[in-house]
Amino acid sequence: MTRRDVFLSGAALACAAQSGRAAAPRNICISSANGLRATQRAMDLLKQGADTLDAVIAGVNIQELDPEDTSVGYGGLPNEEGYAELDASVMHGPTRRCGSVAAVRSCRTPSKLAKLVMEQTDHIMLVGPNADRFAVEMGFPAESLETEKSRLAWLVWKQSMRDKAGHSNWGPGLDSGPPAKPLAGLKKIFPHADDDLLAWAYQKALHPPTGTINCLALNTKGEMSGTTTTSGMAWKIPGRVGDSPIIGAGVYVDQDVGAAGSTGRGEENIRIAGAHTVVENMRHGMSPKDAGLDALKRIARNFKNDKDWLKAVDIQFYALRNDGEYAAVTLWKGNARFAVNDGGQSRHEPCAWLLD
Ligand code: ASP
Repeated sequence: MTRRDVFLSGAALACAAQSGRAAAPRNICISSANGLRATQRAMDLLKQGADTLDAVIAGVNIQELDPEDTSVGYGGLPNEEGYAELDASVMHGPTRRCGSVAAVRSCRTPSKLAKLVMEQTDHIMLVGPNADRFAVEMGFPAESLETEKSRLAWLVWKQSMRDKAGHSNWGPGLDSGPPAKPLAGLKKIFPHADDDLLAWAYQKALHPPTGTINCLALNTKGEMSGTTTTSGMAWKIPGRVGDSPIIGAGVYVDQDVGAAGSTGRGEENIRIAGAHTVVENMRHGMSPKDAGLDALKRIARNFKNDKDWLKAVDIQFYALRNDGEYAAVTLWKGNARFAVNDGGQSRHEPCAWLLD
């Protein structure tokens, strides 16, 4: 160690003390609520000395391969045409490298594929049929992603689309303005339906189910990695890519500071480059919780802080600092939780929220 190194590490410690940070990193994994098994597996691997990226990928693979999770990997809810399309990203703190894939239709573990894009190519992102082709070239079997359950769900949704005046993905989106009396229009189409039922049906059509898994890890050496993997928004237009595979939105890692990821409505996350924003906020001294809440405030601002307009938005951020401090935040007050493992059994902890 040179005298300059000694000086710099001393300065870093002083800085850490001022901001209330613990000095030494520790093994810890956090994840979206569906990540109890992921964080457990990732922690087991961290304890065995595995690389942080290998640990989080092995964790989320459980969810990707679980047909009962209809928001990730195999069994993910399909797009408009009835095909699931998967998005995933990975970021490796020690090498500062990253990779991602989008709109993958025949590889059940897109997080592994994203890592291969990172390791085996000079590129960062591969999309669509060429990402599938790359998967086959890398030795993955070309497998269908649909299950009986996800196919049935698609058929039911398709039935509900028979009336072309109903909801579709086409036309101005949520970001174009608050919906103007949508129920009045629906009432004309379904004059006999009662108002509550119409309101419920409208909400279901307007908010296609989403879901994703993000997993972040830190080890005792201070190394960090993250991954996010998803089947994206159900019933999306084929080719729609959400935030999950976008480096800086779905995931971001700078182990000099920390890591962040997101689940929920990807369009809103992309508009604020959420994961990068959260990491930058931590770099400038915010706690993980405040860093996430600030990102949510930027989303609320994009909706002119109009709570009626924002009702349609569901989004979470997960933040892990390089000293092991962590938090998860969600836009709306409720029972949202996230998964944590700091060395024992994985557990759920409550998310902080921005709006009542
Ligand atoms: N963020 C994902 C997307 O927009 C979906 C989700 O997390 O629910 O594709």
